[in-house]
Amino acid sequence: MPVKGWIEVNPRYCKGCELCVSACPQSVLALDMENLTPKGYHPVYLTKDGCTGCAICALVCPEAALTVYRETPIRAVRVTP
Ligand code: SF4
Ligand code: SF4
Repeated sequence: MPVKGWIEVNPRYCKGCELCVSACPQSVLALDMENLTPKGYHPVYLTKDGCTGCAICALVCPEAALTVYRETPIRAVRVTP
């Protein structure tokens, strides 16, 4: 099963530079042309499923505007003797 991840964008810091959009290996980021940040930039957003939580976007973001989350698999336990 693929690892599921997602991101949170802090609109106070994102300046719409698109570095994260270019860096995302899953191509799941884009600028949200419908919205503006308080400073007047189009913020980045997650366009579709497929984020793996690799955190490359957060590493390249010069504004530290991204927080990445990754679902951790539940550990398998033996239920029969
Ligand atoms: S965590 Fe990885 S896959 Fe998810 S949006 Fe960021 S760069 Fe793309
Ligand atoms: S790299 Fe950071 S500042 Fe640039 S668009 Fe992505 S989240 Fe916004």
